[in-house]
Amino acid sequence: MSDRGLLIVLSGPSGVGKGTVRKAIFESNDNDFQYSVSMTTRKKREGEVEGVDYFFRSREEFEQLIETGEMLEYAEYVGNYYGTPLSYVQQTLDAGKDVFLEIEVQGARQVKEKVPDGVFIFLTPPDLQELKSRIVGRGTDAPDVIEERMKVAREEIEMMALYDYAVVNDEVPNAVERIKKIIESEHYRVDRVIGKYIRMLKEM
Ligand code: 5GP
Repeated sequence: MSDRGLLIVLSGPSGVGKGTVRKAIFESNDNDFQYSVSMTTRKKREGEVEGVDYFFRSREEFEQLIETGEMLEYAEYVGNYYGTPLSYVQQTLDAGKDVFLEIEVQGARQVKEKVPDGVFIFLTPPDLQELKSRIVGRGTDAPDVIEERMKVAREEIEMMALYDYAVVNDEVPNAVERIKKIIESEHYRVDRVIGKYIRMLKEM
């Protein structure tokens, strides 16, 4: 029997660059974990591919899946649903492979409750000032909109306490390396490997 895989959750405040870091992790083909493609009700952006970037669904379809318990977690973010289909995560973990989620903080909180032995990684901006410039740098939003985003970001940073690791996203390649090291080390934790040794002893 293979050991169950690790559930790795990358989250962090809005605008910190979770998506960019996640894409960079999966562009380098030297990792063994599987990306769980999320489902969303938001419109497909140019260049996005169904089943690769997201599973794009209607609100009705999404709500149906919530009702039938088929989402590991979900959240409403800027007027759209985003969520993680449960079956892929379960099957992949059962097959002994690691699963990687990149989700916003409300969803990460739900996963923490359901899968407390997951690896929870919080991506942080180098400092709040830089976060602000990233948020402001997105476009020509009104000051009150920008302030609101800042407030949300501050609250999200306070949520860091729920996580196991805080990784600074100063440069994407650095953040990627830090995350890969964390995942590698997590595999060596005694509480993750001792079950295998106990089974071996029983079988002798
Ligand atoms: P975007 O619309 O820019 O692709 O994503 C918006 C936000 O949704 C990002 O913060 C991203 O991390 C988050 N997100 C993507 N997939 C999921 C998901 O399955 N669950 C949750 N809770 N958030 C998600």
